[in-house]
Amino acid sequence: MEIPSPSGFEAQVQQVVARYMRRYCDEVRTDTCGNLIGIKNPRSRFRVMLAGHCDEVGMMVKHITPEGYIYFANIGGVDASLVPSQRVLIHSKKGTVSGVVGKKAFHLLEPEEKKKVPKLHELWIDIGAKTREDALKAVSIGDPITFDAPFTPLLGDLASGHGFDDKVGSFVVAETMRLLAKEKLKVGVYGVSTVQEELGLRGAQTSAFGIDPQVGIAVDVGFASDYPDANKKRLGEIKVGGGPILHKGANINRVLGELIIDVAEKKRIPYQISGEPGRTGTDAAAIQVTRAGVATALVSIPNRYMHTTVEVVSLSDLENAARLLASTIEALSPRMDFRP
Ligand SMILES: [Zn+2]
Repeated sequence: MEIPSPSGFEAQVQQVVARYMRRYCDEVRTDTCGNLIGIKNPRSRFRVMLAGHCDEVGMMVKHITPEGYIYFANIGGVDASLVPSQRVLIHSKKGTVSGVVGKKAFHLLEPEEKKKVPKLHELWIDIGAKTREDALKAVSIGDPITFDAPFTPLLGDLASGHGFDDKVGSFVVAETMRLLAKEKLKVGVYGVSTVQEELGLRGAQTSAFGIDPQVGIAVDVGFASDYPDANKKRLGEIKVGGGPILHKGANINRVLGELIIDVAEKKRIPYQISGEPGRTGTDAAAIQVTRAGVATALVSIPNRYMHTTVEVVSLSDLENAARLLASTIEALSPRMDFRP
């Protein structure tokens, strides 16, 4: 969780995932886009792909003023209303540099300014530099930026942090490979820590084409609705700690979707159901329409406050998701027909 991974800059976190995967996979490889792929039974002709994206939203250095202030652009969906007054880290070849996003004092705001949500391109980072030249000794144009918000355990098994979307997915995929390490399977398993999801499912698109799976399951965070101003009428009833979210709808293969629910029932793994009428905004959308089509499902980890610096998840949901995926894969056989 503490390793930065804004989309396009995932290499460092992939090394951590690789170290874990190598202990439990027959083969671990990477591709040109930066996806990390851990494989069990690489010779099997029936291939199951798991995908959890390791990238997170962040920012990038765009411009440095003569006075040494840094202007920046978003990497993926950053909520500009959250950014003023945050601590940030700029990840430069020269090292990691701390900065703060400045804001005019409350006393000095005009009444209409108090109501206004700032635009990202109007905000600046102060790293303490005196001039542009001074700033350029520490950072460069194009350096990625992340929020300096620590992983924080909360009561029970809840935890808060930034980038649970979707480092938890990447973790659940790796953990599933661990649970399967000693199992005899009828299928090959490709656990992928995908990249650039936040920019349009780009790593899932290329890795799914390369793997050419018959079955693909994405693991991502899903909207919980168990906080005071969540709209249950729109989101349904989804609780953090209530088990992984399974989905019904066009992005989910009917046969595979029903199999996962059956497995959850048999293994007594808690789960919650969410209706997803269209294309989900996850790697599952890219995997499903790869080549001539892939039997696809999505397992989501309930998440409060998505894309903020204080996302909340339950660690038991992660463990239950990995158990559910491992048991589902054990139940798969190459003879299954996934035509709906
Ligand atoms: Zn995500």
